[in-house]
Amino acid sequence: MTPDAKRMFHREGRPADILITGAHVLDPRTNLDEPHDILIRDGHIAELGEPGSLSAPAGAETVDAAGIHVFPGFVDPHVHLRTPGQEYKENIETGTAAAAAGGFTAVVAMPNTDPVLDDASILRSLIETATRQAQVPVGFLAAITRNLKGDELTEMAELRDAGALGFTDDGKPVVDAGTLRKALQYQRLAGGVIALHEEDPDLSGDGAMHEGATSARLGIAGIPSLSESTMVARDAALAGYEDARVHFQHLSCVESVEALEHAKSKGIRVTAEACPHHLTLTDDMVRTLDSRFKMNPPLRGENDRRALVAALRSGVIDCIATDHAPHASHEKEVPFEQAPMGTTGLETAFAALFTELVLPGELELDVIVHRMTEGAALYGLPVPRIERGQPANLCLVDLAARFEVGADGYVSRSSNCCYHGRTVQGKVLLTLAAGTVAFRAPILTAAAPAVS
Ligand SMILES: [Zn+2]
Ligand SMILES: [Zn+2]
Repeated sequence: MTPDAKRMFHREGRPADILITGAHVLDPRTNLDEPHDILIRDGHIAELGEPGSLSAPAGAETVDAAGIHVFPGFVDPHVHLRTPGQEYKENIETGTAAAAAGGFTAVVAMPNTDPVLDDASILRSLIETATRQAQVPVGFLAAITRNLKGDELTEMAELRDAGALGFTDDGKPVVDAGTLRKALQYQRLAGGVIALHEEDPDLSGDGAMHEGATSARLGIAGIPSLSESTMVARDAALAGYEDARVHFQHLSCVESVEALEHAKSKGIRVTAEACPHHLTLTDDMVRTLDSRFKMNPPLRGENDRRALVAALRSGVIDCIATDHAPHASHEKEVPFEQAPMGTTGLETAFAALFTELVLPGELELDVIVHRMTEGAALYGLPVPRIERGQPANLCLVDLAARFEVGADGYVSRSSNCCYHGRTVQGKVLLTLAAGTVAFRAPILTAAAPAVS
């Protein structure tokens, strides 16, 4: 069977030859947290040395990075690239360019496209597009059920043979427990993680925001936390019974964290992700009735937000995912209750978490960096490391640089970002993904010497 690392696809670029001087390198996995020079030759980290100890070979560019941080490249296990079928919202090229602009060096795309990625021929065509367009490596999750309808399973083994990284019906839950159980049994043959969007549609009803005091005051139908947490508990039990490997997507509430913690304490093979918006914002924002704050699962209460932060710190929640969900302005700029759910997030994830959690002292920087890279591990992909011999998957970030989100537009094709208009701190200047320059901030382009 194909190793999972071979299930990532991108456009081949020119391997980078760059000397980064004096950067503060922070990599929790290699225990680096100090200034270093980094020499990148032919797309790989060739040398790491004391500041001022390395010199640029002929033909290599030098980037003076004194005062700038270097992190291992972020990995996003949950993005919507809207291809095929909804390229007016995003496509593989714009979505992966937005990823690179946010410091991400790999992303995992969801299958709720039009048509749904539920067939090997669609996957083969997406892989072909990714090898022409993807600015950073992208992996594809195929659907668990045909057309996300929740009844008939897809040809999971065939989809894995064609290159699927795993499976999800994201956007929708697998409501029928018997169907999910069968999928977990097929996982033994097909391999691949099964990722779950946990929601009980009967409990969610036509809710448009978190059910609580704010929804009651606004008179908007609510989605109770129970809608998510009861499904997390059910599916953790199913995973335990079938000894399956399950990943919970975008957990949003304290009750889900408790169910997850319980499952992990029993040794059940579950992992989970949380999104920057759930970690930094609450349903209080919905009082603006700005549809940028409408997502699924919804922004919840402050106690939920705090529980997510605590679970992220302890590792009960394994990693951060953006759930980057682009929508066109004409779709979002309608009354709150009618607007589609979702926020973009690739370009703002790090800055939002740094500004809202690290600067106020709620979470440590090295924890953020670890959890923003850990998404690779749960899909069996190599986690980016700042280490000699590794392919260059890293980003340069100016932690002192403040900017207004959206003031210079977005790299993403869509602008439905929940942080739009906010001033945040921590700007990505340069991203190297799979050994090539995937993003370079205009400020760095101006400062950089001409490369021969
Ligand atoms: Zn979802
Ligand atoms: Zn999603």
